[in-house]
Parts: sequence; structure tokens; C-alpha cells
Amino acid sequence: MVVAVAADGEAEAASLNGIANMIKLENLTKIYNIGSVNVPALNGVSLDIKRGELLSIMGPSGSGKSTLMHMLGCLDTPSSGRYLLEGEEVGSLNENQLAEIRNRKIGFVFQTYNLLPRLTAQANVELPLLYGNGSARKKRATNALERVGLADRTAHRPTELSGGEQQRVGIARALVKDPTILLADEPTGNLDSRSSEEIMAILQWLNREEGMTVVIISHDSDVAAQTNRVVSMLDGLIISDEPVVDPLIVPPSPSGGPV
Ligand code: ADP
Ligand code: MG
Repeated sequence: MVVAVAADGEAEAASLNGIANMIKLENLTKIYNIGSVNVPALNGVSLDIKRGELLSIMGPSGSGKSTLMHMLGCLDTPSSGRYLLEGEEVGSLNENQLAEIRNRKIGFVFQTYNLLPRLTAQANVELPLLYGNGSARKKRATNALERVGLADRTAHRPTELSGGEQQRVGIARALVKDPTILLADEPTGNLDSRSSEEIMAILQWLNREEGMTVVIISHDSDVAAQTNRVVSMLDGLIISDEPVVDPLIVPPSPSGGPV
């Protein structure tokens, strides 16, 4: 693993005792330009996320949640402001450099799973592992599927899996390259409440047992109550940022999942 170069002495000192801000956003803005129209999506967002946090971002449609996740995930660059990811300034990188950081540090989980329908769960999870020999790839993918409780579904194709199971494959695919942070945009948005709990149980387990930093975007206040911190957005701004006093721990589902 590459050790990030700290931007300043303070960040370096903090990283040494393990309390470094993994993510630091300073007054970030994003304005989309469509033809001659400017659409402001983020209007000055400042946010610190520490290693090992389980955080939810809430807000009505159009409030800028997905735009913020695109910034956090290095899918796009801000119009202004600063973004430090593990001490690395990523706000002004070019496409190739952003892709390299994404590849090394970020795991994405999508509302619609984004699995390839013709491939088995195993092959879907191996997909991000472009390099390395076959048996090492296979082993890593199997391990990721075990961590989401799908050891017995590796040969199934997406159509042979429930929505919750497909999302678990999506999580395994996000985990397979050992990202430093997991970003999930409405991961339970297409799921019934039971499958939704199953997914939240896994995300909580990854956070609690593996120390994974997890950021979940959601409309659902039940989901937010299952995280440790809730950031609320409106009109491209953070309007509140509160710890969850007594986060609801979701028990592992009877149908499998991490124990
Ligand atoms: P949310 O995820 O909270 O629903 P978004 O971040 O998707 O909000 O959108 C915030 C604002 O930015 C909205 O007004 C939306 O229409 C606009 N927007 C989002 N993505 C784009 C884009 N690629 N091009 C132009 N406008 C966009
Ligand atoms: Mg969105």
C-alpha cells in the first residue's frame, strides 16, 4: 500500500496516531455547465471524514448528494475548493490521475448494482482485478464473496439471485481491491425492507469488524439511523452534521451474511 504524503505537518502527525482525516473538503463547489446554462450543484461544502467512520448523507432529490459522492469518489473534479484524500490533493488532478486514485482507493456500490448479467457472481467480482494471475484473482474474489455471506452463490448469475444478493455481489466487487473507503449511493434504494436490512448489516459489519470507512447516501431515515453520523444537505449545502446517539445495530439476516 502506498503511504500518502501528508500535506502538512499537522496531517502527518495526526496520521501517525491514527486519527487523520481520511477526507478533507474545504469550501467545495461544483457548477455544471450545460450549453450556456450554469447549474450550481455544490455551493461551498466543507466536510471532514475520519478513517473508520460510518456516515450517511441525506437530503431531498437535487440537493447535491450524488454530486458530492462523485467528488468524493474522484469521478469528477470540483469547480473550486480543495479536496484532500489521505493527504493527497485530488481536486485538480487530470483524468488519468483520478482514475489511478479511484482504482487504488475507492470502492463504489450503486443503487442498481451494475452487475454484468452474463457473468457469474464470481466473474463479476473478479472483473476489477484486471491484472494478476488467475488463481490469485479467483482467491481474492472468493474471499470478497465470503465476506458478504455469498460463499454458496459464486456460480449464480445476477438473474438467479435476489435483489439483496445482487447488491451483496456489488459490495464484494467494491471490496475486492481493498479500497480505503466504500462509497454507496442509495445502496438500498431498490430493495424491500428486509433486503435493505441485510445490506445495512453487511455495511455495519465491514465498518465495525474490518474498520472500513463507509459513506452511504440515502433518502431513508431508517438507513441513516443505522449509521454513526448523519450529514444533511439542501441546495448544495450541508445544513446539519450530527452524530447518531444510539445507532441501530442490524442483526445479521437468517439467510446468511457475515456473523
Ligand atoms: P441528488 O443526488 O441529491 O438528487 P444531484 O447531485 O444529482 O442531487 O444533483 C444536484 C443538482 O445538480 C441538480 O440540480 C441536478 O439537476 C444537477 N446535476 C447533477 N448532475 C448533473 C450533470 N451531470 N449535468 C448537469 N446538471 C447536473
Ligand atoms: Mg442522487
